[in-house]
Amino acid sequence: PEAFLSVRDLRVRFSTEDGIVNAVDGLSFDVERGKTLGIVGESGSGKSVTNLTVLGLHNPKTSAVDGSIRLDGQELTDAPEKELEKLRGNKVAMIFQDPLTALSPYYTVGRQIAEPFMKHTGASKKQAKARAIEMLDKVGIPQPALRFNDYPHQFSGGMRQRAMIAMALICNPDLLIADEPTTALDVTVQAQILDLLKDLQQEFGSAIIFITHDLGVIANMADDLLVMYAGRAVERGSVREVLTAPQHPYTWGLLSSMPRLGGDIDEALTPIPGSPPSLLNPPSGCPFHPRCTFTDKVEDSRCSGERPQLAEGRAAACHLTSQQKQTIFIDQIKPR
Ligand code: SF4
Ligand code: MG
Repeated sequence: PEAFLSVRDLRVRFSTEDGIVNAVDGLSFDVERGKTLGIVGESGSGKSVTNLTVLGLHNPKTSAVDGSIRLDGQELTDAPEKELEKLRGNKVAMIFQDPLTALSPYYTVGRQIAEPFMKHTGASKKQAKARAIEMLDKVGIPQPALRFNDYPHQFSGGMRQRAMIAMALICNPDLLIADEPTTALDVTVQAQILDLLKDLQQEFGSAIIFITHDLGVIANMADDLLVMYAGRAVERGSVREVLTAPQHPYTWGLLSSMPRLGGDIDEALTPIPGSPPSLLNPPSGCPFHPRCTFTDKVEDSRCSGERPQLAEGRAAACHLTSQQKQTIFIDQIKPR
């Protein structure tokens, strides 16, 4: 049976002044109801573009989309804008890093939370207000009936993030896309917001796509994990599999550059040397080969000559043998 959200061989290309950018280059993944898929990768890896495309928020004038995005059996890539309008904020909702991209400074927070509910359910103003106050309460805003009439600038950063979550969840969406939703918040508020999201997911049964560059956050939020590099998925598996026995050199690099759990925060990090490739002119073969320190373990210069494919299920797109993928991690990466 098809997954609730099923993305197959998604390609998104932009025309820019400098040429064509392959922002997403053949991406496939599934998300089931009630489950969270984490997508990690550096900026420019295509993770945000993927999700804007799922929402139909890409600009059709400058970008071309190929492949398939099916939500609950409905193909979205060729859905008319009117259909997508009906989905957004209703079946599919999004939480951004910066609540001010979602909240207008000119209207009260309450009105903005109530609006999608009126629009999608045909509820009266009074019903929508009651529901918005209920949502403000659910996301932990004290005195919600009073705060309903506040403007966004009267809320703290953490409260604005909560308000945006209330707005995203008011129609009980089947799919919630959270793009770096807590990056701008301090650690304590971040933990509270993540707990809140988990609780609300329990209550509403939404599928969540959680985009982040922070593997620490993903460890406690996601069920499955997709690691993206240069517009492609390079590793896929359950969070447990990927974090405890990662198979791709890029994932090894990401893991080595994150502070050890319970370790000294100031502990020197090992960033991956080099920077992500230009998507205007991507490297030949494996897109990670210019930064990879294991190319000498693969024969016949395949790393620069042949693009590794990502198999179905638990997999890493890398020419190393499965034996090498296991032993290199255990012998060289894990014991830091
Ligand atoms: Fe490194 Fe080669 Fe594997 Fe790419 S295919 S990650 S360059 S070892
Ligand atoms: Mg982004």
